[in-house]
Parts: sequence; C-alpha cells; structure tokens
Amino acid sequence: MFNKVVIANRGEIALRILRACKELGIQTVAVYSTADRDLLHVRLADEAVCIGEASASESYLNIPAIISAAEITDANAIHPGYGFLAENADFAERVENSGFVFIGPRAETIRLMGDKVSAIAAMKQAGVPCVPGSDGPLPDDDSENLRIAKEIGYPVIIKASGGGGGKGMRVVHSEAALINAISMAKNEAEMNFKNSTVYMEKFLETPRHIEIQVLGDGEGKAIHLGERDCSMQRRHQKVLEEAPAPGITEKQRHQVGKRCVRACEEMRYRGAGTFEFLYQEGHFYFIEMNTRIQVEHPVTELVTGVDLIREQLRIAAGFGLSRKQSEIRLKGHAIECRINAEDPVKFTPSPGTIQMYHPPGGPGIRMDTHIYSSYKVPPNYDSMIGKLISYGSTREIALARMRNALDEIIIDGIKTNIALHQRLMHDGYFNEGGTNIHYLEKKLAQED
Ligand code: ADP
Repeated sequence: MFNKVVIANRGEIALRILRACKELGIQTVAVYSTADRDLLHVRLADEAVCIGEASASESYLNIPAIISAAEITDANAIHPGYGFLAENADFAERVENSGFVFIGPRAETIRLMGDKVSAIAAMKQAGVPCVPGSDGPLPDDDSENLRIAKEIGYPVIIKASGGGGGKGMRVVHSEAALINAISMAKNEAEMNFKNSTVYMEKFLETPRHIEIQVLGDGEGKAIHLGERDCSMQRRHQKVLEEAPAPGITEKQRHQVGKRCVRACEEMRYRGAGTFEFLYQEGHFYFIEMNTRIQVEHPVTELVTGVDLIREQLRIAAGFGLSRKQSEIRLKGHAIECRINAEDPVKFTPSPGTIQMYHPPGGPGIRMDTHIYSSYKVPPNYDSMIGKLISYGSTREIALARMRNALDEIIIDGIKTNIALHQRLMHDGYFNEGGTNIHYLEKKLAQED
C-alpha cells in the first residue's frame, strides 16, 4: 500500500479521504489555501502544506504547487477528490509524469470522457443506451442541421461537447429557432470551454436523473454497484440523492449496469466512476460519465457495504477490485441531504462563523462534514458544508431517520438549507418516490 498520500482538496471530501487513508495505515499530506488553515483535515493530517492564496486558481487549481507539495513531502500518490482538478486530464498526466500515482483513471480516459461527443461514441460502441441525437458534432451546414433536428423530432437540446456544470445548453422547440440557437450555443461553448463543438440530442421533457456507480481495476475488470437517484435538483445542482432509485427493478438495474461494466472493460477503466443517465418511461439514456468520486457516493456505500474511497486507494495501489459482481448486493435504503451554507429561500451563499454545531445521531445516521463549533465558513468556495446521510432497511425508515436527524442538527451562526430539506422530507410526492428533475423547481415556484 502507499506510504503517503497527498489530499488535493478541501472540506468534507478531504476529511473523508483522510479517514480512509488512516484506516489503511497511510500517512496523509493536507494541502490548503490561506483561507483554509483551520480546516479539520489540515489539523488531523500528518503533514500540511500551504499551497497559495484563498482564490482556488492560486491554490486548489495550482498544479505546480500541488506537485511540489508531493515532492517535498516524499508522497507516493495524489487523491484529487471531486471538483477542482479531479477531472483535469492535464493534471493527471503531470502527476504521473512527475512520478506519483494519480488516484483516478488514466489521463487518456479522463480526456475521452471529458469530450462528450467522443464519450457518447464510446458508449454507443459498448452498447450503452444513449439519447437519440446527432451522433457527432453539428456541421456548419444549416440545411443539414435542420434535417438532423427534424429526424430527431422537436424539442431538441444543443449541448457543448466540452461542457460541464450544466452550462451552455439550449433547448429548441421549433424549426424557426434552430439555426440561431446553434450559433449562440457555439459562441457560448467557445467562450466558456474554448471548444465550439456542439451536438444535438432529443430533449427529454420529464426525465429522472439516475446514475450507475462503477469500479474498474484498470486491467479490464469492472463491477457496478447499482444506481443512485439524483433527480432532486435546482439549477442543475443536486440537492438530495438516494439509493436505490425508487421503482427501478432488479432486472433494469442488471441490464443497464452490465452495459456500464462492459464500457469500463473496453476502456480498461481504472478507479471509481459514474455513468449518468436520464430515465424516462422505463428507458435509460446516457448523458455523461464522471471520472471521479462523486459527492453522493455515501448512499451507495451504505446500501452496498463497500467503502468507495478505500477501493479507490486499493485500485490505485495495484490491488485490484476487492469484490466480484456476484458479491455486490443492495440492502436497505439510503438518503443524502446536501447541507449548504445558504439562504433557504433566496439560495444566496451565507458564509461566516458557525457559533455552535451539534451533529445529529442515532441508528442509521452518518454526517460527513468538516465543520465544528467556531469554524468560519470562508466565502471563497462551494457553499456545501456537509452531507447528512440516513440509512434504513426500508425507504420509509431511512426517511423517518432523516426527519429526526434534520430536527436534531444544530448549525447556529450562518444560514443553511436545512429548512428546505425538512420541507422535502414532508413532501407527499417526494415521499411517494420517483419525482423528475423539474419537480423541485416547480415546487419552489409554487411556494413562491
Ligand atoms: P453537464 O456536464 O453540464 O452537467 P449534462 O449532459 O450532464 O451536462 O446535462 C446536465 C443536465 O441538463 C442534466 O442533468 C439534465 O437536467 C439536462 N439535460 C441534458 N441533456 C438533456 C436532454 N437530452 N434532455 C433533457 N434534459 C437534458
């Protein structure tokens, strides 16, 4: 196993990685910005290196500073967490060229999946079901684009091949609006992602977001760990996730899971990854693959009993997969509420000092967070300050435990979205299960 790992991230995921390393007897190096001296994992790590100013571009996105930290501490490997450099192929490449192990897929895999047109092509090849679409970049030919759209059928969505974070997408409802939308989408794509390639897909009107967790050993073996339902979103940002997805049958899970596994085997996928699908009327449609650990990984850990960060570390160190597909059984139900430092009504960020923090507890409750009483939430980063996760043998029990936990938790001094989660836990449609990706925004608009 590795002797020492650099944790190239912050907040709750940095602490999660630190815990997994300590369990495996691996020493840890925290890298942190000047705004993050008081982070819990910085205090707990064996070594800590300040890598730059508060602004992420000067610290958590500063590739030479992170690699230098690995060099001066004589570390073996770098874990990127999620966000920041986690899906940056150049970073992965530079880490490996500097003689360290990148805890994630090979750079070429990250590059392939980061370009959505090539990702979709690879998925089709492996038999993964995709959204009916242009099957490649849109040409500079208006009549051809009109023909493609007509064949797919309106409404269609124009998406950037290099896109991310829900940016640069345009829905087109009629022929009259198509050409203009394509040229605007291209401009936006060039500006935001320095890549003007766009493609077209059928716009699905009432889909759910369901994703499949996979692990690959990098040598051609892979397994899937079932699905998560992440349909509860606001502005394409996930708010709450659960596993398994309500209403998905064992047969459906097996069918889509096996396709994802085959895709991983074909690209000799290394490490943890997620295939994101839209799900509508009983069908799965691939939209993208995330080549990293995800925020919502704990719900999968709770229903499968597999520690995904431990698996990432083991795979990166060359130990392969610890389980066979036949050893993966989903048991019970898990729900995760993302706790954000934000106004529960206006959704504006609410950084500041946490006067008092009291964590919830009891059977089936897990809280992944870096906060503590007197911790100051800096204004420089994402507003997520923790994840409250509940587990139960049934969805009803997981829901009941989450309701209790949300009543128990105390975070004084800053505003949080806990009240929003409380409303959701008492929402009739959510309690039934299976709401689509527009549900939360519609509910919020109605309450307004
Ligand atoms: P990004 O990488 O920017 O997150 P995705 O391809 O994952 O882009 O799409 C983000 C979101 O946009 C999806 O979760 C979904 O809400 C919406 N979306 C994307 N493609 C479609 C589609 N074909 N039909 C309907 N909604 C879509």
